[in-house]
Amino acid sequence: MTTAPSEQTPAVVGPTPDIDSQFYWDGLARSQLLLQECSSCQKRRFPPMPSCPYCGSTDFEIREATKGTIYSWVTVHRAFQPAFAGEVPYTLVTVDLDGGGRIVGRLEPGAAAAAGLHVSPHFVPHEGWTEARFHPE
Ligand SMILES: [Zn+2]
Repeated sequence: MTTAPSEQTPAVVGPTPDIDSQFYWDGLARSQLLLQECSSCQKRRFPPMPSCPYCGSTDFEIREATKGTIYSWVTVHRAFQPAFAGEVPYTLVTVDLDGGGRIVGRLEPGAAAAAGLHVSPHFVPHEGWTEARFHPE
């Protein structure tokens, strides 16, 4: 059975990696959540960027984050893209990663957000890219 074009779900618009973020997207594809750690002040940062926002150094190491805690969250009731219309409501969480860095991602459906809740990333493949989601430990 075919679906009329007007009834088809539009495709998710994926990210466009650049020279600064390619390592991040490649890491997600390997089920790794990778961040930059400044070689000068040792602070971790997200999103990927060419220099440290704390000290200005352009030298960094890539570190893996495996755990974090929820800092804040919002439940989305209106999809930002038509492709997600069938998935609302869903919860976006801000996660303070162990070792430093703060990231935003979707909370696993069915999980309840709470400040301080310990979470771990897991990796959801999409067409041409991988999404990091978080689930309670
Ligand atoms: Zn720095």
